[in-house]
Amino acid sequence: NPPSEKYEYQAEVSRLMDLIVNSLYSNKEVFLRELISNASDALDKLRFLSVTEPELLRNAVDLDIRIQTDKDNGIVTIMDTGIGMTREELVDCLGTIAQSGTAKFLKALKESKDAGVDSNLIGQFGVGFYSAFLVSERVEVSTKSPKSDKQYVWEGEANSSSYTIREETDHAKLIPRGTRVTLYLKRDDKGFAHPERIQKLVKNYSQFVSFPIYTWQEKGYTKEVEVDEDPSESKKDGQDDKDVKKKKTKTVVERYWDWELTNETQPIWLRNPKEVTTEDYNDFYKKTFNEYLEPLASTHFTTEGEVEFRSILYVPSIAPMGKDDIINPKTKNIRLYVKRVFISDDFDGDLFPRYLSFIKGVVDSNDLPLNVSREILQESRIMRIMKKRLVRKAFEMINGIAMSENKDDYDKFWENFGKHIKLGILDDKDNHKRLAPLLRFFSSQSEDVSISLDEYVENMKSEQKNIYYIAADSVNSARNTPFLEKLLEKDLEVLFLVDPIDEVAIQNLKEFKDKQFVDISKEDLDLGEKDEDKEKEMKQEFGQICDWIKKRLGEKVAGVQISNRLNVSPCVLVSAKFGWSANMERLMKAQTM
Ligand code: ADP
Ligand code: MG
Repeated sequence: NPPSEKYEYQAEVSRLMDLIVNSLYSNKEVFLRELISNASDALDKLRFLSVTEPELLRNAVDLDIRIQTDKDNGIVTIMDTGIGMTREELVDCLGTIAQSGTAKFLKALKESKDAGVDSNLIGQFGVGFYSAFLVSERVEVSTKSPKSDKQYVWEGEANSSSYTIREETDHAKLIPRGTRVTLYLKRDDKGFAHPERIQKLVKNYSQFVSFPIYTWQEKGYTKEVEVDEDPSESKKDGQDDKDVKKKKTKTVVERYWDWELTNETQPIWLRNPKEVTTEDYNDFYKKTFNEYLEPLASTHFTTEGEVEFRSILYVPSIAPMGKDDIINPKTKNIRLYVKRVFISDDFDGDLFPRYLSFIKGVVDSNDLPLNVSREILQESRIMRIMKKRLVRKAFEMINGIAMSENKDDYDKFWENFGKHIKLGILDDKDNHKRLAPLLRFFSSQSEDVSISLDEYVENMKSEQKNIYYIAADSVNSARNTPFLEKLLEKDLEVLFLVDPIDEVAIQNLKEFKDKQFVDISKEDLDLGEKDEDKEKEMKQEFGQICDWIKKRLGEKVAGVQISNRLNVSPCVLVSAKFGWSANMERLMKAQTM
């Protein structure tokens, strides 16, 4: 027998295992979800690669996942017929942190100040293979890659800094392809080896895995057997029993063990929307994207015509942690399938523009070739059409939130994704018509509740032609600006743009429903009240003082003018029509500092 070789874990792995075991303690059962998701990933990888390398499937076994339990010995075995691992891959994948879920988890742990770790935080991350040690004393991974002619066994123990790898030599344990993970449960966790317990967990965690998951279950069927009649009974009947021996039948239960399909394998997006409940959609969302909060909205649709695809899209209820989601839109938020085969979740603006990168969902198309590379995908006309349709649907979904009876929902949306919508105005001129109605602002007539542009327009005076706005750093300073005086007097509503990006967005938008946006701090503000006589009179009275002020201020101002736009304040500083507004100037200064 070839000897087993001993390896040390990369230092971070040891630390990670420690953290996982100590911080996830109350939620141990996640180990099953993680191992099933690895099995499912391995099957996905095999199916994907086999499109271009059909020889990978030469060992004809079904693509599935099987979970067996041995409750007497406290053993759980999870088997898949996926891509498996070569010896090198075993070292790379199970001894080093190079992998997605685990690396992400470690990063989040580093970021969270105390190592106590909020359990909600954990809910958002795949904690990976090492979660097996939450419940196991010892873990054995026996695996056969189609790229290798040998099968290898990885073995590790809880609280150990090393693991071993050896070749599988026991013929009884050889598998055609894939991976068998055997968990030798800790004394207190042997309950996980009960078949009903495992079945329940699989139903709970993995009903949306797209490969069949079988669990090993005890079954029974009833059958009728003939038994001798009880003689005491016949006596009671008062009949003499002579020598005729009467026969009677009895129902007994015959027990046996067999594989039982435990999950629903029809992907939810292929089902008829009429038969899927909101709860199903939300469940699918939480399980697919490792989310712990329900989404704000979802939409399930099929498109036909030029390109056919099915999709379910979601609006999350909170923005991802950190602000980097806009700058770095590689969010893995959209999972693309071709004919039910998972292709990629690595998109960067290909299916949604960056400002909509917070939308999550699945897209399944029959029209894309299976063996596509990402580069080809990006160039493809089909992708471009899909993008257009998806964006339209995403807007419909967001609009649905805005129209909803429940006002809180849109408030939540706006609080979390308002910035994205404003960025959309800067980035996506073609969709201004869809984006503009989603904007919300405070105004001189609504300082506490933000209003939409539609509401503004409805509220306009009959002779009013423009949409007035003032940019400021807060509602409070907007309310106190002298520019507002005349408009308040005339009962004209003024939008308060208090987010730095608001002003830029509005300037990009230029107009809404044929109404121009007008900055009330600009010099040419015309409220349509010219009184030439009065102006002449004023000029005579104040002309000289204007000249005097201009002389004193010199280069500091472009001009000093008499104006009818003030009511109470004696003077106001305005900016030139084509110059920066005071707010913009403040912003630019802040940026260059
Ligand atoms: P992640 O799944 O996020 O990559 P894990 O810690 O769960 O991180 O798994 C680490 C890696 O080990 C996987 O990326 C995969 O390469 C490998 N692996 C784990 N389980 C299996 C399996 N059942 N079959 C093949 N490879 C596996
Ligand atoms: Mg994993």
